[in-house]
Amino acid sequence: MQKEPASLLIGSHVSMSGRKMMLGSVEEALSYGANTFMLYTGAPQNTRRKPVADLNIEAAWQLMRQNHMEQFVIHAPYIVNLGNAENPDIYRQSVAFLAQEMERAEKMGSRILILHPGAHVGAGVRAGIDQIAAGLNELLAVPSDVCIALETMAGKGSEIGSRFEELAAIYEKVTCPQRLRVCFDTCHVHDAGYDLARDPDRVLEEFDRILGKEQIAVFHINDSKNARGARKDRHADIGEGQIGFSPLYRIVHHPDFSGIPKILETPWYPDPQDPSRTLAPYQREIAWLRTGIAP
Ligand code: FE
Ligand code: FE
Ligand code: ZN
Repeated sequence: MQKEPASLLIGSHVSMSGRKMMLGSVEEALSYGANTFMLYTGAPQNTRRKPVADLNIEAAWQLMRQNHMEQFVIHAPYIVNLGNAENPDIYRQSVAFLAQEMERAEKMGSRILILHPGAHVGAGVRAGIDQIAAGLNELLAVPSDVCIALETMAGKGSEIGSRFEELAAIYEKVTCPQRLRVCFDTCHVHDAGYDLARDPDRVLEEFDRILGKEQIAVFHINDSKNARGARKDRHADIGEGQIGFSPLYRIVHHPDFSGIPKILETPWYPDPQDPSRTLAPYQREIAWLRTGIAP
């Protein structure tokens, strides 16, 4: 029997809805055999949020503790844009919403809020980076245990953060970089042009040189539907895309990142029994990535 190191932390994106809210998220994660998970505090495409008192946090943590789950991460909605230097209203609304999101994360017991750095929407990369750093400085001025993890981006449209150097430039302008981290998304890094498929270690070494490997607080483990450098951001199921199983397995089991949560955001697939329905790929993908045994 193969036994994975106890330190492997792996899970997926899960939903949070209905009356159970966060308790339902934990139940969903457990149903996949996960020992960590990621959630959005509401629909990722809007900023309507339930009051924290309705999130069922205590029951969720009770179930987590019973199952020795110690951490989970929160993803900020992707409609906020701290990088918008053209429209001050969007920037302001983004800062205001993210300030609440930081509070929610703290109350829910997550130490990590994952954020897409932002898009410059025409003002240029430099202006975008300045605007993002200004937003982060406003947010991080409020003391909290929560860190913001900037996600590596695919580079579609005017997205900032597809080059490790761009993230490093944000770090340089932030007054308390000790509360910044990175979420390394394998699909995005591949789509941005880094050769994860052929040499994941080399890409991680490059990351280490530019940002420092200890800055990685979360991995998003996804395959990619598109060719390296396509800047598209379309996730594929593990082993079914242009990255392939082995490099993803390598990253999941990389000794330098053993205590870091690995989160799947792979697409649901059509049920072979009833193609009008879709099934979550997470249970089987977690098992494949734990054991190294995949079809
Ligand atoms: Fe993301
Ligand atoms: Fe991601
Ligand atoms: Zn993505």
